[in-house]
Parts: sequence; C-alpha cells; structure tokens
Amino acid sequence: MLLELAKVETFYGASQALFGVDLHMAEGEVVALMGRNGMGKTTTIRSIFGLSPLRHGTIRFDGKDISATKPYRIARLGLGLVPEGRRCFANLTVAENLLASARRGVWTIKEVNALFPRLAERSGQYANTLSGGEQQMLAVGRALMTNPQLIVLDEATEGLAPVIRQEIWKAIATLKSRGQSILVVDKTLSELLPVADRCVILERGSTVWTGMPQELTAELQDRYLGV
Ligand code: ATP
Repeated sequence: MLLELAKVETFYGASQALFGVDLHMAEGEVVALMGRNGMGKTTTIRSIFGLSPLRHGTIRFDGKDISATKPYRIARLGLGLVPEGRRCFANLTVAENLLASARRGVWTIKEVNALFPRLAERSGQYANTLSGGEQQMLAVGRALMTNPQLIVLDEATEGLAPVIRQEIWKAIATLKSRGQSILVVDKTLSELLPVADRCVILERGSTVWTGMPQELTAELQDRYLGV
C-alpha cells in the first residue's frame, strides 16, 4: 500500500476536525477525496503532510509510519503537495520557481514545459505576472519537480476559466497514464470522476463511503455531495 490512513483524528486547538478518516491507496492509483464544504478534505491533506498533527490514528506512506513526522521530512520521503491557493514564489521567474523545488528524477523543467506549454512560453516571467490559471500550472509543475511518488492536488482547478481547467485536467490524465499516484480533491464531479480509479467520501470528519466512480450513484451523490 502506498498510502494508508487509519482512524485519523485531527484537531485545531480544542476543536476536533477529523473523527476517524480511513483512506488507502495503491501505487499508480488516482483517488478522489470528496465531501461537501467543511467535511475535512483539506484537514486530511494537512494531516498527511504533517501540517496539522494527528492526535489519534496512524498514517503510513510506503510502509513507513509518518504519523509524527515533520513536514519537511515528509516532503523528502516523496510526497508532493499542490496546496489550495496555488503558492508560488511571486518574485521568482517561472523557471526559477521550478528549479527551486527540483529533486532528481524523471521530472525536469523540460518535462514540465512539455506538460504545460504555457509555462514554457513564460519561462522568464515573474510568477506574480502570471494569470491565476498559469500560477496553478506552475504550482503543479513545482510539485512535479520534486519527483514525488505521490502527488496531492487540493482544489487545483478552483475558480479557473473552463479552457484552463481543461488544460489542467488533461495534464492530470497524462500523469495518470504515466502511472503517477494522485490524490485529488475537486468540486467538479464531471471532471473529477472520469480520471478517478476510486473515491473516498468524508462526512463531518469521517470516511463514510469508498468505491469506484461507477458505483457512485445519483442517490449517493445526493446524500453525501449534494447541496
Ligand atoms: P472545503 O471544501 O470548504 O475546503 P474541507 O472539506 O476541505 O472543506 P476542512 O477545511 O478540512 O474541510 O475543514 C474541516 C473542519 O475543520 C471544518 O469544520 C472547519 O471549520 C474546521 N477548520 C478548518 N480549518 C480550521 C482552522 N484553521 N481552525 C479551526 N477550525 C478549522
């Protein structure tokens, strides 16, 4: 198993956000982490990366218990995060942003530029002059430059124009076809479900359903994801 969360409970101060998250994924799988607003998706991701330490339960990555591991060490173990809100270095160029996160592996600037031709065209531009969509592509590119065994995308297409969203989904499909393991949170089911191998649904901080996209009936969608 590449990633395994068992009975994870996480708090913000005294306030409990996760009450028992179970999630597992195998190498090469694309898993969609789903649930309505505030159900604990981002907190689950923060827990995986050691950003919100868990109080109970365990998280194992590639066989190692990382439940109490520091964030910088977790990143070095081969976990790449594309956080909500596309964080890049505003005063570095596109190429510098990519180089700043580079670790040895198949993903190089050349490969990232091939995945996102828009970034290639803007290589010398400062990140703060990019459009929101381009910054999001750069955030994905930066995570790929770490050559992660698992890449985690938190709302990577949120608020972006449809044409840009399509470019990002196309890139995700390309990653999947290359066997990249991906954990992805996204609100647009029509775009998310076609790339997902499996879905994990959270409700009020607990895992309530796991299954394949084909098994996610309209009734289940209404019960767990409807507004
Ligand atoms: P969204 O889709 O809106 O991002 P989410 O499923 O990612 O939602 P979380 O952001 O993980 O949900 O929130 C889970 C719970 O934790 C919510 O009840 C939220 O109010 C609470 N929470 C999130 N961040 C904090 C924080 N910094 N301090 C206190 N409580 C928080």
